[in-house]
Amino acid sequence: MLKVAKIENKPEIFYSIQGEGKNLGKPSIFIRLSLCNLACIWCDTDYTWNWENTTFIHQNDQNPNYQKYSKKEYLIKLSNQSLIAEIEQYPSLQVVITGGEPLLQQKNLVSFISDLKEKNQNYHIEFETNGTIVPLAALDAQTDQYNVSVKLSNAQLAEKERIKPAALHFFAASKKAYFKFVIEKEQDLEEVFALQSTYQIPKERIYLMPEGRQRETLQKRQNWLIEICKKHLFNYTDRLHIHIYGDKRGI
Ligand code: SF4
Repeated sequence: MLKVAKIENKPEIFYSIQGEGKNLGKPSIFIRLSLCNLACIWCDTDYTWNWENTTFIHQNDQNPNYQKYSKKEYLIKLSNQSLIAEIEQYPSLQVVITGGEPLLQQKNLVSFISDLKEKNQNYHIEFETNGTIVPLAALDAQTDQYNVSVKLSNAQLAEKERIKPAALHFFAASKKAYFKFVIEKEQDLEEVFALQSTYQIPKERIYLMPEGRQRETLQKRQNWLIEICKKHLFNYTDRLHIHIYGDKRGI
């Protein structure tokens, strides 16, 4: 069984295009898993972890109308068979497993992916991870791509929570791993340079992406960030889904 995020009483599994990074524009099936081991202050999927009666801090806490989420309402457990039935409705073989932090459920993911690949070996499995957990060997063997989004100090978490050297060494060495950094300001770049140098992450596997949940914010930052990518030989990635759909869930 996997713990999946629930949206309007249905599991958050949807068919869209990959909006960011190396596979930008590819038609993909997204599965959003519940639970996270971090609590980024600006997280836009906090319905996967910011449960009632917890003391996690989130920027929405300042909004008097904001209520933390009920696990019962926002989390659903699904069997491998039910998940596979959802996936098989769609024509794509590109599967993006996101969260929350999907690798928290990696033991159950091993069995899910092997059941899925029994249906069709050509499923391409892509994980979106915060880069704090080393994948099990059995999971790594089934994985085609990791999109590693290491959290910078703008997440307002202690460095020891968001930077896990063993995991970063693993992903830096894995040719399947592409790093994606959300950039808002100059200081974010300094942190990227330091991480790239400490963990010797090949620049061709690093994507810089402007921070922003509105088209206008992205447009304001994109020219500045593109020049930085050109100068330092990083890849630039946009947030295509924001340009097309805005900040909507489940599409
Ligand atoms: S790691 Fe991702 S899902 Fe977890 S709190 Fe941070 S932004 Fe949200």
